Amino acid sequence: MASGLAHELNQPLSAISTYCQAGLRIVDTFDDKPEKLVHALEHASIQSQRAGEIIRRMRRFTGKGAVRRKPVNINQVIKNVLGFIETELNRKQIKLELELAEELPAAIADEIQIEQVILNLLHNAIEAMFSTSDNMRLLRVSSRRSAADTLQVTVKDSGPGMDAATLDRIFDTFFTTRKNGMGLGLAISRSIVEAHGGKLWAESTAGSGATFHFTVSTTAT
Ligand code: ADP
Repeated sequence: MASGLAHELNQPLSAISTYCQAGLRIVDTFDDKPEKLVHALEHASIQSQRAGEIIRRMRRFTGKGAVRRKPVNINQVIKNVLGFIETELNRKQIKLELELAEELPAAIADEIQIEQVILNLLHNAIEAMFSTSDNMRLLRVSSRRSAADTLQVTVKDSGPGMDAATLDRIFDTFFTTRKNGMGLGLAISRSIVEAHGGKLWAESTAGSGATFHFTVSTTAT
């Protein structure tokens, strides 16, 4: 449904943006420009682009069609995702500690979706650490077997962490504390994990980093 909705909304949103731009061009030909109208058109255009960006992000998460679950090597997925962001970690001087348990059974999951969840957690961790001037930026990623049929992935950062009130809301749709944030990443990640029969949660205290955990089953749910 999300994917269909995103598809349907994309076109009218582009049209709004195009009409605003056209309006701005017309106003631009006036000798005496009505500033309030220019301001309104500019902001309508910015907001429609913002809505478009929200939808594009949503589609990136959900747009891969039907969920395809198969046995997945979770450690390999973690390594793949770390491969995507390796240069970013180096550039931002983030030290990576990897603690992957050996000989884990395969998870039964949609690999692309789990990849998106891990990537989102890593991006959040990087952003959080980059927001502080602290030189010691440490990212720890681990995997382990947390129950007979459950694997647990943990992403821990040395960023500023969160106070209890923030921690309470981070999984709410559109909750963000970031200037250019959308507040969708964690909400969507949690729904992906829960659709797989797992759990996604966070632990943090202000000033001492944040830790996110999610579980995924090794049996079909
Ligand atoms: P966005 O990244 O667009 O803000 P998310 O849903 O991914 O959306 O995150 C919601 C909020 O959760 C962030 O704005 C931030 O306040 C908080 N958050 C997420 N990850 C971390 C983290 N690793 N450290 C501190 N705060 C975090």
